[in-house]
Amino acid sequence: MHAIIAGSGLVGAATALALHQVGIQSTLYDQVDLVQATLASNGLPVAVEFGDSGGSVLLGSTALRVLRELGLLDEVLVSAHPSPVSHYFKIDGTSAIALDVVNAVKNSGEADPTLQTPVQILRSKSWNRTFTGKKLVAYNETEQGVNVQFADGTFATGDFLVGADGIHSATRRSIFGDSCKAEFTGVIGHIGVVRIKEHNIALKETCAFYIDRNKKQMVCTFKMSEELAAVQMMTFNDPQPVVGEEYRPVPDLPKESTRLADLLAEWGVPKNIESMMRNSFRISPAAIYDLPDLASYHKGRVIIIGDAAHGMVPNAGLGLLTGLEDVGVLLELFRRFKEPKDLPQVFSLYSQLRVPRGQEAAKRSRDMAKQYYSGSQIVGHFMLRVAFFLFNYNLVKVHSVYDFRDVVDKAVLGLASH
Ligand SMILES: Cc1cc2nc3c(=O)[nH]c(=O)nc-3n(C[C@H](O)[C@H](O)[C@H](O)COP(=O)(O)OP(=O)(O)OC[C@H]3O[C@@H](n4cnc5c(N)ncnc54)[C@H](O)[C@@H]3O)c2cc1C
Repeated sequence: MHAIIAGSGLVGAATALALHQVGIQSTLYDQVDLVQATLASNGLPVAVEFGDSGGSVLLGSTALRVLRELGLLDEVLVSAHPSPVSHYFKIDGTSAIALDVVNAVKNSGEADPTLQTPVQILRSKSWNRTFTGKKLVAYNETEQGVNVQFADGTFATGDFLVGADGIHSATRRSIFGDSCKAEFTGVIGHIGVVRIKEHNIALKETCAFYIDRNKKQMVCTFKMSEELAAVQMMTFNDPQPVVGEEYRPVPDLPKESTRLADLLAEWGVPKNIESMMRNSFRISPAAIYDLPDLASYHKGRVIIIGDAAHGMVPNAGLGLLTGLEDVGVLLELFRRFKEPKDLPQVFSLYSQLRVPRGQEAAKRSRDMAKQYYSGSQIVGHFMLRVAFFLFNYNLVKVHSVYDFRDVVDKAVLGLASH
């Protein structure tokens, strides 16, 4: 069998590796043409998607499990920084609350010590992707397979199509129409990447949040090594970037770093956090979108995966993790059903298993955004303290570990018993 994968983001690239493991060839197509993008960038860093423009991503135990299955774990761990504790502060850096994440992950049922500590990784240091300048605009399905049409007028054919083309997915729109469009939330994340050692910036915490709920102010920092860290601040009144232009590093860095650092000083954040933004060598805006929950992730010979299926607000750090879970489930299903005649069963099970999980992750993310941006500061901070006390002393489970192999085993057993 041969698959067409539209979108070579982190999830599309991981899908290609997963299909390779079960003997299915695939071709990755991405709308970005790296040569054109480099020529057009006038010497600025090329941003083809969020991954390349900076910022870090937190990978928890399920994501690490899938990466191990794909043979990528060792490579990722070499470039990543462990993040065993998350800290939450008031906006001025006082009143610290700590969540012992390793303990919470153990308590959720993760027995393997290699997978218990989440890691932060700079996205551009993740696994390799390919950029070909092929933008999917439409597809049609025949008895034998799918024909995909690209914006440059060329076509490709395959046995099936995987839409891994992100939160504004053209594949999803082709299947379900324009009604399932990602909505702009009004929030822009400004993400700076800074060489902390070079600028003598002290940063103790590996992952820290500074919040004032009354004023809707939120800043977070992520340490990616002793040298490198990211700082991210959310604003509510900046203009919405044009779709496709977001994630591009700002062209006038001195002006933007000064504007944002001055704003942070006004908010009253600790001096080292302000200094991180002021000294960032790259700042990229990320417009935050939310995708309405979908009832299905497939139609005929087409599935959607990653943000294309369940793009969500980033507040719980679950987007990529949920996309990698999709990849793990798809891999396990193809291990059990290998023949072309099995495709309807694989896709139907994939959708049945993944839709509830995608919806749950999107809901947790929305709830977390509400926790950060609304309500009273005193009550919100107190509630967080109570919740973390319960988690740290194992009185409540954060969530249960998602074992994609076990999930597929149970679904297949369920089929057999019917
Ligand atoms: C500020 C921020 C912080 C985040 N932090 C975390 C975190 O800590 N942990 C976590 O798990 N997740 C996090 N996420 C979410 C995570 O970044 C996404 O879930 C993940 O990158 C999605 O990967 P993807 O491959 O599905 O989509 P994308 O990375 O969007 O890739 C889609 C690819 O498809 C291509 N494409 C688009 N349209 C077409 C087309 N028509 N034809 C061909 N190609 C096309 C694009 O060029 C792109 O390369 C965060 C997101 C944001 C915005």
